[in-house]
Amino acid sequence: MLELPDSEKSYWLDAARSTLYPELTEDIEVDVVIAGGGIAGLTCAYLLKQSGLKVAVLEKNTIGSGTTGGTTGKVSSQHGLIYDELIANHGKETAKLYADVYQSAIERMDQIIKKEKISCEWERDDNFVYTVSPDKIRQFKAEAKAAAGFGLPASFETKLPLPFKVAAAVKFANQAKFNAYKYVQGLAAIVHGGGSYVFEHSNAIWFHDGKPAKVKTKEGTVTAKDIIVATKVPAGPMMARGTYCVIEYPHTSYLVAGPFEGALKGMYISPDKNHYSLLPVNAGRKKLLFIGGENHIPGLGNATERYHKLADYAEKYFGVSDIEYRWRAMDYMAYDSLPVIGKVYPWSRHLYAATAFKKWGLSTSMVAASILHDLILGRQNKYAGIFTPHRIKPILSIPKVIASSLF
Ligand SMILES: Cc1cc2nc3c(=O)[nH]c(=O)nc-3n(C[C@H](O)[C@H](O)[C@H](O)COP(=O)(O)OP(=O)(O)OC[C@H]3O[C@@H](n4cnc5c(N)ncnc54)[C@H](O)[C@@H]3O)c2cc1C
Repeated sequence: MLELPDSEKSYWLDAARSTLYPELTEDIEVDVVIAGGGIAGLTCAYLLKQSGLKVAVLEKNTIGSGTTGGTTGKVSSQHGLIYDELIANHGKETAKLYADVYQSAIERMDQIIKKEKISCEWERDDNFVYTVSPDKIRQFKAEAKAAAGFGLPASFETKLPLPFKVAAAVKFANQAKFNAYKYVQGLAAIVHGGGSYVFEHSNAIWFHDGKPAKVKTKEGTVTAKDIIVATKVPAGPMMARGTYCVIEYPHTSYLVAGPFEGALKGMYISPDKNHYSLLPVNAGRKKLLFIGGENHIPGLGNATERYHKLADYAEKYFGVSDIEYRWRAMDYMAYDSLPVIGKVYPWSRHLYAATAFKKWGLSTSMVAASILHDLILGRQNKYAGIFTPHRIKPILSIPKVIASSLF
């Protein structure tokens, strides 16, 4: 059994320097105040600033150090087996819109990274969802057909360069992987300045959805026209924190990373029990293999056992003989498989949220930011309707939330 590192530490947070932005210590006024300095908050801030608005980001720790700093790093429009499910539960039109908005999110991120010259190890690569179970072949064929039918770069495959026999896979060509922590740092550097701000160690503790809107920290108040809450579960107002628990639920996942000699390319994930998410990452002169999974709702199970399962898998199949990093992170899942983006309540005037990214928040952040950008600027956005928080009917969702958290 491989030894685990003594402490939990994300590779991304360890490999890059953290940022040093000021704390909010006075009252200021901008157009939009954003609580939460992860990839969602910073992408919103970036797009709004590009459209000429003044923004202020309030981050309670340091930017990117939340779930974004503990992510895997895949940017894809392939979120497990999603398209066949979306057609069944939401209809073809919604599934097609989902395909379009996510595929174009990848291209938009590609353009921003190139235009702004953000050094974040951005690399285009193929993404695969695979199964070792012959029982699932029909399901995988249906997924490939549905996705390709929407114009996505999807194909059904049976031969993958993995060290075990795969029964079926769906490949999405030309997706991407990157260092999300460095990307967020790059966005923050562009946002801060010229009347826009990034504040760290500035915990948003009070939200007022009025005209003007206000967000307070311990030391200062930001007055603005609009508020975006990008803190995963809405950090405020208090009521949102409570009510959103019936539309989303938290999930913890684990990652281990160790040096790896193989020539494996591509990004992989499997819905099978005891098969995991795989990502080879170039880490300076060496290559690390990330193995992620062992998902559960927080508070259940033994973390050390889960890390050992991932480490055993890395050793058994990929010959990894040393685990250099282990870490865990948490994200929110939506009961109906669609992220939650829009005005917090139907009666909200200037209060928006983006949450329930269901562990696909790297591409979803671009989707969320584009939608919130348009809503705030009073522009039509044809994708906004499918993600609106107001589609959720809490009474109907409660049993589903409980069921999906337990199984
Ligand atoms: C293990 C794991 C692997 C993943 N892998 C992938 C992947 O490969 N591809 C993919 O697309 N997605 C992946 N995801 C999901 C993705 O990482 C997340 O959806 C995304 O990083 C969430 O970004 P965020 O900005 O919403 O949240 P965060 O990055 O958590 O940012 C929220 C920020 O808000 C701050 N905050 C909280 N409360 C307050 C407050 N009151 N005031 C001010 N600030 C506050 C926090 O400190 C935090 O920095 C993964 C998730 C997990 C858990």
